[in-house]
Amino acid sequence: MIQLRKSPNAPASLAGKKTWNGEDVQETLCTDQDGKCYLCESCTGKNYQIDHLRSRKNYPEKAYDWANLFLCCGYCNGRKSDQFDDIVSPCDVPCEEIFDIILKPECKAVEISVRQPDIPGVGQTRKLLHRLHNGKREGMRDIREKIFYDELCSVVLNFARCLKEYKNDKTPENRAEVVEFLKIDQPFLAAKKSLLRSCSDLFEDFQREMLWNRARCAGERGA
Ligand SMILES: [Zn+2]
Repeated sequence: MIQLRKSPNAPASLAGKKTWNGEDVQETLCTDQDGKCYLCESCTGKNYQIDHLRSRKNYPEKAYDWANLFLCCGYCNGRKSDQFDDIVSPCDVPCEEIFDIILKPECKAVEISVRQPDIPGVGQTRKLLHRLHNGKREGMRDIREKIFYDELCSVVLNFARCLKEYKNDKTPENRAEVVEFLKIDQPFLAAKKSLLRSCSDLFEDFQREMLWNRARCAGERGA
């Protein structure tokens, strides 16, 4: 989960309060979120869904509220359901600064820790992220949970390998390979940032590449 920046103007179809997943909503969210799920940051491709951050069941008045709509993958949407209505909104806070998502392949687990526990909603968000990354029943992932975990492992371990090559030999080519992994349309940026935070000697070299939407927001404010 990283901070997002959504287009300030709500897509026109929402004004009618008849549909929340009109073509314009889908198109704007796909662009705003670079085609990635707001929760797990996997690339959704054509298999995206529109999620209500606060569920329709518990917050019917927010069903057509632009601030409440996010691009989500089917895996996360199904697991979140209406059980996690108090999570933080990724438009309000820099999620990648609040959570550490640390892959522990030796334990076949992903550790989710909180760096800023005082922010409202952080506890429930941590719970949801833990469930998405580790499965509903500890140590017993179902098939979809296993597919998700394997995908995360593949990307993050590849990134760790590139990082190691750069650490051993700081050539422009090796740097460019790391930078490629950190582009905004790439999956699992929060986990990559957490990994870089744990390599304090390398973190500074890529600090600028990890501003993502915060750089976009600052650019808009400055414009
Ligand atoms: Zn997802």
